[in-house]
Amino acid sequence: MVSYAEASRIVREHADRLVARHAPQPTGLLDTLGRVLAEPVLADRDQPPFPRSTRDGFACRAADVAAAGLPLEVIGSIRAGDPVVIEVSAGKAVEIMTGAPVPAGADCVVMVEHVQRDRDTLRLSPGRSVQPGENIVPMGAEARAGAVIVPRGTRISPAQVAVAAACGSAELSVFGRPRVAIVATGDELVEVSQQPQPHQIRNSNSYSLAAQILAAGAEPVRLPIARDERGHLEGIIRRALETDLVLLSGGVSMGKYDLVEEVLLSLGAEFFFTGAMIQPGKPVVFGRLGKHYFFGLPGNPVSTMVTFSLFVEPVLGALCGDSGRGPRFAQARLASEVQVKTGLTRFLPAWLVDGNVEPVSWQGSGDLASTSRSNCFLVVPPDQPLLGAGETVTILL
Ligand code: AMP
Ligand code: MG
Repeated sequence: MVSYAEASRIVREHADRLVARHAPQPTGLLDTLGRVLAEPVLADRDQPPFPRSTRDGFACRAADVAAAGLPLEVIGSIRAGDPVVIEVSAGKAVEIMTGAPVPAGADCVVMVEHVQRDRDTLRLSPGRSVQPGENIVPMGAEARAGAVIVPRGTRISPAQVAVAAACGSAELSVFGRPRVAIVATGDELVEVSQQPQPHQIRNSNSYSLAAQILAAGAEPVRLPIARDERGHLEGIIRRALETDLVLLSGGVSMGKYDLVEEVLLSLGAEFFFTGAMIQPGKPVVFGRLGKHYFFGLPGNPVSTMVTFSLFVEPVLGALCGDSGRGPRFAQARLASEVQVKTGLTRFLPAWLVDGNVEPVSWQGSGDLASTSRSNCFLVVPPDQPLLGAGETVTILL
């Protein structure tokens, strides 16, 4: 049994040695969402490609306007999309719309709200001023032609889709999705489509894991439920070894029918840790069988999900080509006091709103219903029996 910090370090150490499992493929822009970029997106031209007005107003010379509110002559108008043919000289102004190219000779844009206009003449309103450069984004200020605008290894989110579109990339080169085997173990389990007997439980872990795998940009492979019986479990583990990463749920505690470690060991597995000082998720195991990494995740549904976030994500991220992937933590203000027993790092389902966080009441690590009403986990360090109201605390997002 290792501490949470030690377990995280071990996982990170292995993840850092992994590289993307599958070769890059050219992929249609919208299909790249959540995938990892294998080749950088380059700016195909300066961004913006011309000095861009950020306001509706008048392009002119700041020095002219500053000179005691002298009137300027309005000599034309430019809309977004117009090619620029006009030049602005001393004492002149050109009407301009947001997003339009600022004409040569002008060094500022005065907002339309800040001027008084009388037909073709224009004055700055009393009390207003304008500085050179105001309301203009210079050509190339966002990116120079040829510069890396999204680096390799970036996980594509909507902002990167937008920037790639702006650079004319209808396709991007992204790494292939690793395939991740999901093996739920337990004689009490039935598939979601089956009607459970009163003593049976639906196999929800295969779904939570599949959803987490999909969200991580990988491909889940849901295998049949493994019975708590050596031969059957071994047969399903062998099938799981046809994928890139193996996740097992259940069967890693100390019970008489918890056979996962035993079967993996008999197949020649090495273990990097068997158990971490956390709650939920204490029985979690991490190891390798041949060239396959595997995780044995505890079967309690919240434990399964939390241990995925904490430990599987960094390894899966690396197999996707996203080497920095891992649990995301943030700080928040604790809304009301929390008392726990020391010794374990705890992850309590909690509700975060406006920077304030409060644990939701729950029935422990089997309580999916309460967890589904949470939007983060409050992290309680192993040596802190009491977190006071108003304290700054860490949350797992
Ligand atoms: P285990 O880790 O095998 O001792 O499982 C702990 C408890 O988690 C079991 O008693 C079940 O109630 C629950 N459980 C195990 N596997 C699953 C699963 N695949 N889906 C939903 N609940 C599960
Ligand atoms: Mg079990």
